Amino acid sequence: MPFHDVAVVGAGPIGIELAVALTRAGIDYVHFDARQIGYTISWFAPQTRFFSSNERIAIAGVPLMTPDQNKATREQYLAYLRTVVEQFDLKINTYERIVGIERDAADDAFVLNSQPRGTPPRKWRARRIVLVTGGTDHPRRLNIPGEDLPHVSKYFNDPHDYFRKRVLIIGGKNSAVEAALRCFQAGADVSVSYRRERLPERSIKYWLLPEMNSLIEKDRIRAYFQSVPTRITSTHVTLSRGGETFDVPADFVLALVGYAQDTTLFELAGVELSGACRAPVFDPRTMESSIRGIYVAGTAVGGTQDRFTVFIENCHVHVERIVNALMGVAPPAAPAPIAEPES
Ligand code: NAP
Repeated sequence: MPFHDVAVVGAGPIGIELAVALTRAGIDYVHFDARQIGYTISWFAPQTRFFSSNERIAIAGVPLMTPDQNKATREQYLAYLRTVVEQFDLKINTYERIVGIERDAADDAFVLNSQPRGTPPRKWRARRIVLVTGGTDHPRRLNIPGEDLPHVSKYFNDPHDYFRKRVLIIGGKNSAVEAALRCFQAGADVSVSYRRERLPERSIKYWLLPEMNSLIEKDRIRAYFQSVPTRITSTHVTLSRGGETFDVPADFVLALVGYAQDTTLFELAGVELSGACRAPVFDPRTMESSIRGIYVAGTAVGGTQDRFTVFIENCHVHVERIVNALMGVAPPAAPAPIAEPES
């Protein structure tokens, strides 16, 4: 069975940044991702721009430049991640899901079971494990009838799909607002159902909010505030507002109500999860979890976030703390806290 000092699970930006740091420090490691690198960014809609400035989401000291000096798009950032992997020739076992974590009999290492796509399961041993598995693995469910109908999607892909169609968007933060504007601009008839009184201005990209508010004011995008969907059929969505219910016709429904963490590996490893977000418990000086030898990094430390406070940009320091802990060096100073929104 292959034996490594460290097993890194997850190849998003912080997982890749950690891999570069381990390489530079000469630490032997093996790296897995259940899917392709940067997977949770890959499902952003085409040409979606990051909230964060380029220098804040750049990793491993490699500058992130864009041709127009604007914030990076999904495509530019994925290309950047691929470039960093190529530049440092990182070996990442993509499409190889870790499905089991146990301590080995001698209690000095872990045994990891992996399931590569299309080939037999494999076993690995590693002295330490770092879980960098992100916080937005799969969409939240609404738990209402009709949610799984084929015209209902939890991901916003190409606005072209909605040209001259009636789209009802559920949700009121970045994904919902971005989808509403882009569908509107692509010639769709757009309605939005949001459970609060108004859009939360502190949570929405500053370049999206004025346009959205203006289109709502002019009734060019219909907003049903303080409403929640109770049922979806092939022709309409039933909304409930203040005790009354009414139907909004819809050819397509985009339920953009956020994404949830996959906690499977934490549970398999016995890592304690706490609070409503079910965030892993860890020592912030070393990033070691409640299980000795298992570390956490990246947005995975925030659990399933309702109000986002853990972003790529305030996770870079995790890398340094983990490398120091693995090498027995004192942890770096705590970074200044970053309040939302990202900038
Ligand atoms: P989100 O920030 O979690 O927002 C989810 C929205 O759905 C909120 O408005 C929430 O209401 C509403 N909601 C949740 N559960 C609901 C339910 N059961 N019924 C009705 N409404 C419900 O999710 P997101 O907008 O997809 O954003 C997720 C992450 O991706 C964020 O970090 C975001 O910045 C990022 N993102 C980034 C980009 C980009 O950078 N370009 C684009 C899209 C998304 P409340 O407001 O009441 O909580």
